[in-house]
Amino acid sequence: MKLSPLKLYQILTKKVGNLNWWPVDKKYHEKNSTDPRFEIIVGAVLTQNTAWSNVEKALLNLKSQKMLNLEKLANEDIKKLTKLIRPSGFFNQKAIRLKNISIYLKNKYNSNLDRFFIRDMNVIRKELLSLNGIGPETADSILLYAGNKPIFVVDAYTKRLCERIPIDTNISYNEIQKYFQKELAEKYQGEELIKAYKNLHAQIVIFAKKYCKKKPICKNCPIFKHCNFKEKSF
Ligand code: SF4
Repeated sequence: MKLSPLKLYQILTKKVGNLNWWPVDKKYHEKNSTDPRFEIIVGAVLTQNTAWSNVEKALLNLKSQKMLNLEKLANEDIKKLTKLIRPSGFFNQKAIRLKNISIYLKNKYNSNLDRFFIRDMNVIRKELLSLNGIGPETADSILLYAGNKPIFVVDAYTKRLCERIPIDTNISYNEIQKYFQKELAEKYQGEELIKAYKNLHAQIVIFAKKYCKKKPICKNCPIFKHCNFKEKSF
């Protein structure tokens, strides 16, 4: 039986529950009067091609220097920044990307993320994609989790799942995104839709780490009966 995005969302909500992503350290931001949305922007860049556990180490280093602050990061010495984010891998590239986006937001929006995010989602997306090293997944993570905009994030876990089930479309980033958004946007609107996009992305990550790994653990998989790949894994 085909598995639609809505059915997948219903199954994973039962199995994994509602997940309150993106994780940010609210206490840190309250204490330092900083904007938690900037931590999401930083995390979205740091998580490129690495596990979240490595990102957490880099974020801890940045916090220890009070650098989860847009202005501070924009003005920071690149060598120091590179050293702090070393645990996240690809640290030279990522330090340049973090500096670039911070300087951009500082100069163009006076470091005010309300001014940046208040605009039309497609305009912001185009702008993010024009920045060096910001691809669709990073841009959409920033839009969904920091900007609270209705856009579904397609990551490597989602692509793998779509290849395995498989879905009724090719597996390019844009096609998968359209496929997931079409049905969910018919069912939910406004904040409910944003919540569904956030939840489903987070649920797929948790699900893929537990069951649909590179070498999948299909026994007890909650979508076993919908999947075409399972025979190949035995
Ligand atoms: S049955 Fe196996 S391959 Fe299919 S979705 Fe579940 S874990 Fe992945």
